[in-house]
Amino acid sequence: MGIVNAGMLAVYEDIPEELKTHVEDVLLNRRPDATERLIELAEKVKGSGKKQAGSDLEWRKLPLEERISHALVKGIVDFIVEDAEEARIKLGAPLDVIEGPLMDGMKIVGELFGAGKMFLPQVVKSARVMKKAVAHLEPFMAAQKSKTSKNQGVFVIATVKGDVHDIGKNIVAVVLGCNGYEVIDLGVMTACDKILQVARERGADVVGLSGLITPSLDEMIHNAKEMQRQGFTVPLLIGGATTSSVHTAVKIAPHYSGPVTRVGDASLVVGVCNSLLSASKRDAYIQELKADNERIRESYLRGQANKEKSLPIEEARSRGWKTDWATVNIPVPDSLAPQPVEIPLEELVPFIDWSPFFWTWELKGVYPKIFQSEKIGKQAQELFADGQKVLTEIIRKRRFRVKGVTRFWAANSVGDDVEIYSDTSRKQVLGKFRFLRQQKDMGDRPYLCLADFIAPKSSGRTDYLGAFVVTAGFEVEQYAKTFEAKHDDYSAIMVKALGDRFAEAGAECLHKKIRDQLGYGKVEGLGFEDYIKETYRGIRPAPGYPACPDHTEKTMLWQLLNAAEKTGVQLTENFAMNPPSSVSGLYFSHPDVRYFPVGSIAKDQVEDYARRKAFTVAEVEKWLGPYLDYEPS
Ligand code: SAH
Repeated sequence: MGIVNAGMLAVYEDIPEELKTHVEDVLLNRRPDATERLIELAEKVKGSGKKQAGSDLEWRKLPLEERISHALVKGIVDFIVEDAEEARIKLGAPLDVIEGPLMDGMKIVGELFGAGKMFLPQVVKSARVMKKAVAHLEPFMAAQKSKTSKNQGVFVIATVKGDVHDIGKNIVAVVLGCNGYEVIDLGVMTACDKILQVARERGADVVGLSGLITPSLDEMIHNAKEMQRQGFTVPLLIGGATTSSVHTAVKIAPHYSGPVTRVGDASLVVGVCNSLLSASKRDAYIQELKADNERIRESYLRGQANKEKSLPIEEARSRGWKTDWATVNIPVPDSLAPQPVEIPLEELVPFIDWSPFFWTWELKGVYPKIFQSEKIGKQAQELFADGQKVLTEIIRKRRFRVKGVTRFWAANSVGDDVEIYSDTSRKQVLGKFRFLRQQKDMGDRPYLCLADFIAPKSSGRTDYLGAFVVTAGFEVEQYAKTFEAKHDDYSAIMVKALGDRFAEAGAECLHKKIRDQLGYGKVEGLGFEDYIKETYRGIRPAPGYPACPDHTEKTMLWQLLNAAEKTGVQLTENFAMNPPSSVSGLYFSHPDVRYFPVGSIAKDQVEDYARRKAFTVAEVEKWLGPYLDYEPS
């Protein structure tokens, strides 16, 4: 039985041919003398490992300043405290160490990163070295209070109200921090008033807002309006997964007369801030940003003017997806009871989709091909190895608990709603999901709505809709905090990135169990790679995402599943799931069902939807703002 050390997984192709053959001979029992041959090979390389480790420390013989910059550039924390202490004694003042050799080293890091010669994970590791050194020097600085550190500028950053995601925000904070900015990080779910109060009190030079879910876009508009009303003039930077330069230029910038721009990723933020604050470049740069926004707005408006008309909702409905429900084979779930589950972490590992893990760290590629990339392959391998170490620790110490709940109900569609019943007699309606329908020109293709894939009540058939919530728990945040307290943002971000991986793997694993319970999973004959590509029958669309873009539908899902009690996952006022490493969705099992985007919707559907949900039109327009094909009044 082979034992795999997950912390040392190498790329199989990278193992030297001779070694690979010898090891395979032993593991696969390919030849009688396999053991002897492996021992022989081991004798030949004996000792060379140690020598290597020794030569790794050659840099310790360099002069002090060079050792410090080597440690920063390579992200080596092991000696930084002793080097910082040596520098403090040599230079006399702790601040001179920070502003001298430490900042010099970080400048090199910043330049390499800016030039694309260093990647985000390394920068975050460098910042960890910097923070350790500063933490050592700080107590000595208290004695010299009068002299304050100069910085590039004060940056106030926050994840907006109602949103809980902060991996990207934390990365930006680290990158700015190690480029000489004083970063005041207000954390997640930060109300606008708090952000602006702190910005005023601390004399912010730049305000940065982050958000992941679509309702945060609306919150950012509110922040911009408030900045205008309260007389701010400092630049406003926008970032996060659902933000876009179009939304920023069209919907946010017009409300604030200061500079507003969207920053696509952490590698750009320092350049943007430096330009915004540089006395010589500032004016020209701000003009450029304004012109960019103007251009984006104009091209957006041109698109709006020339856009194809939406089909009236009634007509789109009549051209929805159709099937002969009398003959469809509808799979029946084993049970209609709620199924709370806790999934052991090791069971989830093969369900992990690693590609998004690399995207979190701004390494663009697909796992495992990413390891072969000429540009980022080596960095990807290093990051993966670090990730595996943390993963092993999380599993060994049971740091997270992945909990979820799934349930099926008898269900029928009625128009674009899906009614959920207390049992298969379908007499008592427990609740309804309201879905939206495509209205943009689909040519000859059907105008899709998720409700099309559930048997209509008029068919007389009993169909089923399922739902789930799964989370890696508040333990993710708690464990990450222990690293933040040790000035180790690298590990803290790693923990959160793995928390997200476990939650997503939980969703994938539960989906497999559900397909098995419905019967067709048992004969699908697929493996983990197919699960990650989602080539199986059935989908699990998530409320707030393209096929069902309304986040407020989570309220119904939570109520029907009793999810808060069963999983501990709460919804914020903007329907973000808290803890952040959580996933929810609905199960559809019709063999023809696929993910699709609803796309933009017209006013007639908004009015119809408002009636169905007993919302005002204005409320629907607020929650579906980014999807409207018209300007709400
Ligand atoms: N395996 C990836 C996550 C999956 S992204 C990871 O580990 O991060 C794919 C998921 O997003 C789907 O399972 C579904 O829940 C959701 N999704 C994708 N397209 C969607 C759509 N059009 N509408 C609603 N949800 C969608």
